[in-house]
Amino acid sequence: MQEFELIRQIQRDTAVDYPPGFQHGVRLGIGDDAAVLELPPDTHLVAAADTMNAGVHFPVDTAPFDIGYKCLAVNLSDLAAMGATPRWALLSLSLPVAEAEWASQFAEGFRSLAQAHRVSLVGGDTTRGPLSISVTVLGFIEPGTQLTRDGANPGDLLVVSGSTGGAAFVLEALQSGRPVADRRRLDRPRPRVRLGQSLKGHASACIDISDGLLADLGHVLKASGCGARLDIGKLPDNTLLAACDPERKRRYQLAGGDDYELLFTLPPRHRDWLDKLSASLEVPLTVIGEIEAGKGVRCVSADGSAYQPPGTGFEHFKGS
Ligand code: ADP
Ligand code: MG
Repeated sequence: MQEFELIRQIQRDTAVDYPPGFQHGVRLGIGDDAAVLELPPDTHLVAAADTMNAGVHFPVDTAPFDIGYKCLAVNLSDLAAMGATPRWALLSLSLPVAEAEWASQFAEGFRSLAQAHRVSLVGGDTTRGPLSISVTVLGFIEPGTQLTRDGANPGDLLVVSGSTGGAAFVLEALQSGRPVADRRRLDRPRPRVRLGQSLKGHASACIDISDGLLADLGHVLKASGCGARLDIGKLPDNTLLAACDPERKRRYQLAGGDDYELLFTLPPRHRDWLDKLSASLEVPLTVIGEIEAGKGVRCVSADGSAYQPPGTGFEHFKGS
């Protein structure tokens, strides 16, 4: 298949439908040297990019549909963590062979999520090489309302959405050849876009959990210049981890990456609002600790004793 044929196919297969009156802002999309995009009035542009390499960021046997889904999901998660509204995406594909069937399933996965968030694919690049997918997502936000990592204050509640550890559990099972009934925790993370948007004006800091709860909490604490108490007994459960022994379960919950939940800090006066938000979005929101003066994370067991966590998160180039 020729490069241009492939691009045309991807363009066709990723096209999303808009509701009447929806302002998609695409003045010029795929087909020229660059896209021309119109931001809604009085907004700022928010941009993020993430690359997924086969065998590093997803198992080589991942279904093309799921690769297409996940490369957009991880990017939408970054915009969610800022409280932004995603609108456009650029896709840089490096493929060993240009195969129509692979591309069509990939595009279907991408489109399924793009449609849910009304994100238009407006450009990209296509090259031959080892399988690697790089997505840039663009969105907008009302000036000054972005959620950043540096706003946490002592006394703020530490809150996590959903649950953590499921994706790492699935990945480890696959890697060690154990059967996995349901891979979706790994392959189909749900970016918390609506949650991020709702946190504006309430949360003091926010990050999405890509590298593991402890590692990403560490980024917030460093940026905010504070420490935190983490109540190990309050970490949200998830059914995948039910059969694990407690130590293993903690390791997944604290250090497992790839969950794409939001971790945020909330001034305690918003506590009641948090429960209402959780009910209205139908997303579990669990208070797992509190921001403190000082630095670093202090893990505390349910009985009040200090807890020493096993390892932290996933880091590229570790030891190199
Ligand atoms: P150029 O040589 O000017 O960079 P290309 O031939 O690479 O242009 O791309 C032609 C058009 O197709 C451009 O609008 C580009 O953004 C788009 N495009 C290329 N690859 C992709 C892709 N994988 N997904 C979406 N759009 C793409
Ligand atoms: Mg190009």
